[in-house]
Amino acid sequence: QAKARGRNGYSFYMPSMTGEGVERLRLETYLRRSIEKNEIFLTYQPQVEIDTGRLIGVEALVRWNHPELGLVPPVRFIPLAEDTGFINQLGEWVLQEACRQMNRWQAAGLLVPKMAVNLSARQFERGGIVALVADTLADTGLAPQRLQLEVTESVIMNTGDAMVFINDLHAIGVALAIDDFGTGYSSLAYLKQLPVQTLKIDRSFIKDISTDANDEAIAIAIIQLGKSMNLSVIAEGVETEEQAAFLLRHGCRLAQGYLYGKPLSPQEVLERWHV
Ligand code: C2E
Ligand code: MG
Ligand code: MG
Ligand code: MG
Repeated sequence: QAKARGRNGYSFYMPSMTGEGVERLRLETYLRRSIEKNEIFLTYQPQVEIDTGRLIGVEALVRWNHPELGLVPPVRFIPLAEDTGFINQLGEWVLQEACRQMNRWQAAGLLVPKMAVNLSARQFERGGIVALVADTLADTGLAPQRLQLEVTESVIMNTGDAMVFINDLHAIGVALAIDDFGTGYSSLAYLKQLPVQTLKIDRSFIKDISTDANDEAIAIAIIQLGKSMNLSVIAEGVETEEQAAFLLRHGCRLAQGYLYGKPLSPQEVLERWHV
């Protein structure tokens, strides 16, 4: 401790600040300015009907391109944004940008049926989420039914008032999906009460669907659950024709994944789907 002290008795070295801590602090500092520096943008991954290839919607996936760090993956900066509270600003920007993009596409002659936007737990805790969604819809004129909000099971289960907010969001008419379904601790009793329309089968179950009997069983169970609860089911992370065929065979008609398209720029979506 004493050795770490500088000549004037002040220490610039904090024991907790390992290389990782410094790195995190740097990332945090950069992240805080990322929006104003125009480093944040959205990509859009197509969601399709498996048998027809018809576009049913897109999911907005946020990207951060920092001049020094390059493209930072969301798995690195979303948790950080959640820890620091920056997620509220980021989430607001994402929601507004995604809704505006629907209008830009429409002006260019492409009607994308649905925009899916991911929400974090912290966005629920603050409570302003309902007003934000309502305001954004009013500002952009997007029909509420064309916006689908994605939340994970853990957000629903671990966030005190999530149920209240979800009901409020449902009341303004937006669609709700449970993301990464099957990976959190889902309470089926909760599911029964939730006004959700869609279950998204997590990519981890799709990956080895044709070789792993357990994954296969889980995927089939989720499809059946969706069917009997009258929910639509969409498979995430579909990469092969084999997986798509399996899903179709078991009654899952909707998919998202590299087989149908990686997350695309607005222009790429337009080029690919504009008739
Ligand atoms: P997610 O919502 O489950 O999004 C799906 C992720 O799977 C995306 O990763 C997507 O690029 C990836 N993916 C899609 N198809 C395939 C495939 O066929 N194979 C493989 N290997 N991967 C595929 P991404 O864009 O890196 O996003 C990761 C996670 O970050 C998202 O998972 C979501 O939880 C979070 N995220 C992304 N954008 C936002 C956002 O705007 N707000 C919030 N709160 N979270 C976001
Ligand atoms: Mg998602
Ligand atoms: Mg997911
Ligand atoms: Mg996922």
